[in-house]
Amino acid sequence: MDSPGGSSRRSNKRPDNPTEVEIVVIGLGPGGEAAAGTLAEAGVNVVGIEASLVGGECPYWGCIPSKMMIRAGNALAEAGRVQGLAGGAFNSPPLLMLSGIGPANHLSETGVQPVVDLPGVGSNLQDRYEVSVVTRHEDNFTLAADCTFGQTDDDPCEDRWREGDRLTPYTSNGVVAGLKHRSAGSDRPDLFVFGSPARFEGYQPGFESLAVEQRNYFTWAILKGYSRNRTGTVRLGSTDPTEPPDINFRYFNDGEVDEGAQADLDAIREGVQVARTINGQADRADLLDGDLGQETFPRAEQQDPATLDTFIKKEAWGHHTSCTNPMGPAGDPTAVVDANFRVHGVDRLRIVDASVFP
Ligand SMILES: Cc1cc2nc3c(=O)[nH]c(=O)nc-3n(C[C@H](O)[C@H](O)[C@H](O)COP(=O)(O)OP(=O)(O)OC[C@H]3O[C@@H](n4cnc5c(N)ncnc54)[C@H](O)[C@@H]3O)c2cc1C
Repeated sequence: MDSPGGSSRRSNKRPDNPTEVEIVVIGLGPGGEAAAGTLAEAGVNVVGIEASLVGGECPYWGCIPSKMMIRAGNALAEAGRVQGLAGGAFNSPPLLMLSGIGPANHLSETGVQPVVDLPGVGSNLQDRYEVSVVTRHEDNFTLAADCTFGQTDDDPCEDRWREGDRLTPYTSNGVVAGLKHRSAGSDRPDLFVFGSPARFEGYQPGFESLAVEQRNYFTWAILKGYSRNRTGTVRLGSTDPTEPPDINFRYFNDGEVDEGAQADLDAIREGVQVARTINGQADRADLLDGDLGQETFPRAEQQDPATLDTFIKKEAWGHHTSCTNPMGPAGDPTAVVDANFRVHGVDRLRIVDASVFP
């Protein structure tokens, strides 16, 4: 950002010289941390405001005390500081919109006075799809047989790992194999298929216990990169900043299958087939402890494309939410920030999080 000032990172002190530029970064996830770190290294005074540092009760899921942050944000803006917004793809758009920056029609309908009409704010919500293929084997996997995954004080698997044995799931995040695959119709590798000796059917209450409860399950997770879903939105539900925003992913185009949604479905279905092929080959090559056993998720009998599409649409999840304040040139009506992360039409405000990906 602009001219350098002092050097203390996340200091709450005002700069010694009041004319020095000081930057307030709101939200300290990876985007905010990176921006704050880079700026601090450049000698700029950086004040970081993070939800947990602001304190107070959690007004809604995610523990984001928006109201308190906005009050703090306004006060800091009045003090003439430069602002960096890094609330993430879900929370940066509502914070902009509550400040009058966003799609004028939507703001007016919601009761917020528009200040800068930026139709792209809260549009273009994207995510990457993932589904898994889970098999139940007859015997426990030797690799994980003595692992308790933090559920007991005494964990022989951890002891082995601490002694330097690298043949345990603890050597990695639990993933023991992974491959890239280019699906038909894609001009580049777009699938990442990675496997763990665990039972993982997506994020649901208790998923972490289910994953390691038994030692005879194996999961291939299929991640579809370069997905074509771009029609999701983040909108204000009300003018009350303590209310959560309305988030609509419009996964697979909300069921109105178009070319992009169909291409995503086709690719993920191919990924399911890749996982099934690996399982079959591992079984035939006798690489498994015991026999292959039974595919439990989706079930082995779910083979035809329409059935698998229904399974994928029902079960796909994502956790790479991004693109709700897309970067682009000033002439682009959907662009929210320029190539230097500056919000179009607003002085001294930059967005530095995953919302700026186009
Ligand atoms: C379960 C899971 C697994 C993932 N695995 C991977 C992975 O393996 N590899 C990978 O690359 N990515 C992964 N991701 C995605 C990655 O975590 C995100 O892309 C990344 O965190 C986005 O960074 P960000 O800075 O944009 O937003 P965030 O990390 O969401 O940070 C935003 C911050 O802003 C704060 N905030 C929001 N509103 C306010 C407010 N009003 N006041 C103050 N503070 C506020 C929040 O508390 C938060 O700390 C995963 C995500 C999840 C959920």
